[in-house]
Amino acid sequence: MQKKIRILIVEDEDAIRTGLVDVFVFHGYEVDWADEGPEGLNKALSGIFDLILLDVMLPGMNGFDICNRIREQDSDQPIIMLTAKSNDEDIIQGLSLGADDYVAKPFSVAQLVLRVQAVLRRARIGVETNAKIQLGDALIIDTLNLAGQLNSKAIKFTRREMDILEYLYANADRPVPREELLNKVWGYAKTMDIETRTVDIHMAKLRRKIEPDPSAPRFLVTVRGAGYRLMTD
Ligand code: CA
Repeated sequence: MQKKIRILIVEDEDAIRTGLVDVFVFHGYEVDWADEGPEGLNKALSGIFDLILLDVMLPGMNGFDICNRIREQDSDQPIIMLTAKSNDEDIIQGLSLGADDYVAKPFSVAQLVLRVQAVLRRARIGVETNAKIQLGDALIIDTLNLAGQLNSKAIKFTRREMDILEYLYANADRPVPREELLNKVWGYAKTMDIETRTVDIHMAKLRRKIEPDPSAPRFLVTVRGAGYRLMTD
């Protein structure tokens, strides 16, 4: 089953927040929310959300500060700010802090849904343009069709295996810790020892599929104490 897109709504006005939660649940998103700043920041920093809708005026901590803190941790996290009124200074400040878009209140819900879809689409461009991944001269991976070829022999992948490969490929410049994979690929907020073994089991399966010699990995290497790294050549 395809993983649902997760949205975090940080908004203190009950009527607006409740309305937004209903609308996005109706559109098939998985929705979580917070009604004050610190809790919103906490949830946002869990890293499990595909997009964050962030009000500016919030009790405890304002939306600009939250946006700033999120950006320090994750420069790619899609964020849409909900500004109290169409105040140009708010908008400029929000965008300069790295929000992907802003929507001025009062907004049309239909328009907000379209803006959310547009930001999500933009955030995924990198994945879509990498529909074919080539590793070395023997391995080709077709991410859209969950398929591949190793030395001209056909391979089939599960959706989860492809999500793992795509994430490692997007971060091929470094080893990726198991906890980060559980967080970003599986969507687990907090991880335990028992769950990190899940990652190892999947890696063993992937090696049997993509490695010419699974006992001496060439593409999917373990970096001791640091995680897994995908070698691209
Ligand atoms: Ca507010």
